[in-house]
Amino acid sequence: MARILITGGAGFIGSHLTEALLSGGHEVCVLDDLSTGTRENLIGPLGDPRFTFVEGNVCDATTLGPLLAGCDVVYHLAAAVGVQLIVDQPVHTLSTNIHGSEVVLELAAREGVQVILASTSEVYGKSTAVPFREEDDMVLGATTCPRWSYACSKMVDEFLALAYHQERGLPVTACRFFNTIGPRQTGQYGMVVPRFVSWALAGEPIEVYGTGEQSRCFCHVADVVGALVQLMDCPAANGQVVNVGSDHPISMNELARRVIALTGSASEIRHIPYKQAYGQEVDDLMVRQPSLSKLRDWIGYAPRYSLDETLADVVAWKKKGSRPC
Ligand code: NAD
Repeated sequence: MARILITGGAGFIGSHLTEALLSGGHEVCVLDDLSTGTRENLIGPLGDPRFTFVEGNVCDATTLGPLLAGCDVVYHLAAAVGVQLIVDQPVHTLSTNIHGSEVVLELAAREGVQVILASTSEVYGKSTAVPFREEDDMVLGATTCPRWSYACSKMVDEFLALAYHQERGLPVTACRFFNTIGPRQTGQYGMVVPRFVSWALAGEPIEVYGTGEQSRCFCHVADVVGALVQLMDCPAANGQVVNVGSDHPISMNELARRVIALTGSASEIRHIPYKQAYGQEVDDLMVRQPSLSKLRDWIGYAPRYSLDETLADVVAWKKKGSRPC
């Protein structure tokens, strides 16, 4: 049994990770400021004696320090997330993501606590060298386009993590999540699948940005969480960066059609220019597909859920009356 701290554990991925770690017999403490996460996401764990919840900011070392001191592992997921939030609040995004990670890494290095850090496929930027491999070059856009501030903040997190590993011997793994989906993901901050599903269930037009021919690889949160749990006990991952997700691409147009078919909806698909959607031009990339070789080699990774099964889970959850997107 390990004692585990999850920053951002009241969020979408964090709450599933909390449940998986408790099921595995571990003790879990969640630190979350509830900015995009909710207590409701933790309703199951809240009754478990091996679980504690602390409401607080990850940037606050006086709160984080004592929590980290008693831990074996910290999963650092707390971050400002979602294209819309990033475009609307770039200062908040940069400061939460960079300063928050610096505080976690410094305290973890002092206490000798292993860190699993959440990074993102966004760091590959506009690269066209698919599938994306962890050692590939990054191709980011101009600093005048706020979208890239998120990618850049996570790149700095990775640099910091690798630097702490090299200089201070910190055991750390940076996981680049590709699009993760499933129950509890909110569409409020620009996530595509919960928005498509909500629109389809309401019979409203499904808004697809740009041509809709841009593709992404969507992975069930249970598969992502399964990989995260295994990475905790994977010596090969120490001091490394690794892609985590699915490598099956689907275009936004096809995704919208699948959601319509799965929900039996009469929704039409409506194409919206990026400028209209975000109030400014947004650089987008056409294909985002990971190489999963490292993850397969290290933990024998094989996702269990197909895209249709994953979408069906999201639809079922939305039908049960989740928060509006
Ligand atoms: P989420 O918004 O549901 O989770 C983030 C959590 O962090 C929330 O509960 C939020 O309240 C909390 N948080 C934010 N700022 C905080 C702060 N200063 N102090 C304490 N808590 C704070 O998003 P998610 O999708 O679960 O993302 C989890 C992590 O995975 C993030 O680091 C994100 O960048 C990364 N990621 C997610 C995806 C995805 O597809 N969902 C893709 C790439 C990377």
